[in-house]
Amino acid sequence: DLASWQRALRAQFPIIVGHPELAYLDSAATTQKPQAVLDAIQSYLTTTNANAGRGTYPWANATTALVERTRERVKEFLGDPAAEHSSVHFTAGTTDGLRIIARDWLPGHLTAGDEIVVPHADHQANLSPWLEARELLARQGVGIRVRELPYQETSGDYDPAALAALVGPRTRFVAATHVHHVYGSDMNVHRIRRVVGPEVPICLDAAQSVGHMPVSVAELDVDFVVFSGHKALALPGSGAIWSRGARGPRFRPGGWSGTPNTVGIAGLAAALDWLDAAGPDRIEQWTAALASRLTDGLRRLDAYEVVGCQLSLAARSPTQRRTSIVTFRHREISSGDLGFILFSDGFMVRSDSHCQAGTSDKDGSVRVSLHIHNTPDEIDALLTTLASLQ
Ligand code: PMP
Repeated sequence: DLASWQRALRAQFPIIVGHPELAYLDSAATTQKPQAVLDAIQSYLTTTNANAGRGTYPWANATTALVERTRERVKEFLGDPAAEHSSVHFTAGTTDGLRIIARDWLPGHLTAGDEIVVPHADHQANLSPWLEARELLARQGVGIRVRELPYQETSGDYDPAALAALVGPRTRFVAATHVHHVYGSDMNVHRIRRVVGPEVPICLDAAQSVGHMPVSVAELDVDFVVFSGHKALALPGSGAIWSRGARGPRFRPGGWSGTPNTVGIAGLAAALDWLDAAGPDRIEQWTAALASRLTDGLRRLDAYEVVGCQLSLAARSPTQRRTSIVTFRHREISSGDLGFILFSDGFMVRSDSHCQAGTSDKDGSVRVSLHIHNTPDEIDALLTTLASLQ
């Protein structure tokens, strides 16, 4: 059954097992690593560590093969139906990936008067690079327009009327987010494709979905998927850009002219294997059930307000996935103080304004984000502490 399956998976996280007095509730910031990932890194470094793409001796060849194999592994993990036409570029993470697209690919695809649509209130990493691209182009005498797509609390995704109004004949590119990092909303990106039509490239920040739920590029119908290894059970400083073949950009021409993060890539391959074996759909099912348990509990406590989406999960669009992020505020205690108090009972949460763009909310909020090692007991204990602060 699901509970014994989960117990077996939880047992594979040494840092979690080693700290039974603590509850790690911050997997949206970074994930803990299962033993298989630690083993893969150790094994790589103690058997075939060498530089990739150069040298003719076995360790160098093995490292090159690891990098190429992991590229194919990323495509497979993302359900790529046309892997021979797509490309995977390794990055240092989501921020790095979005900046690479904004600096190395986007400017060459825009001319004066073109427009791009970008999220207004998502992670800062999915806004600043697009604004910088506009500045870069302006210095070259190419004026483009950046249209910012607002978030809508009532639906828990992008405002559909604003989306329709912002997209026009000069729209050449759309940046969006798969799962909102503060509100936990599935941003319904397939709706963007319906509005912009088949030709406009869509770039998806999948930092909060890859590793937490099934992500299928075939279903999403986007052109770029950008994610961080460290949020998907792998190491900080690893990550990838998947891009659709026909658009297949050549980021950083020169290919093997730099040393890739081979240790990070070894960890990423192991993390994707581990996630596939566990089942991203079951991980989503488990964590979404915990998130619902927390949301329901919070709604019974008058001192708290769940932020970001006024709809209950049940009332959302049936195509919107449920996610593992719940964010809330206490009506009197500041978010910073609440985070501090929660840690005195062993709960590790994120409490600030979460690098969110387009918000004037200085006090921020408390974010609980879950992964497969979390348990209903942890949620119930958290709710008991929260209730005691009413
Ligand atoms: N986008 C989203 C939606 C995120 O949640 C984050 C990390 N909080 C980032 C981008 C940035 O990721 P990284 O720090 O791994 O570059």
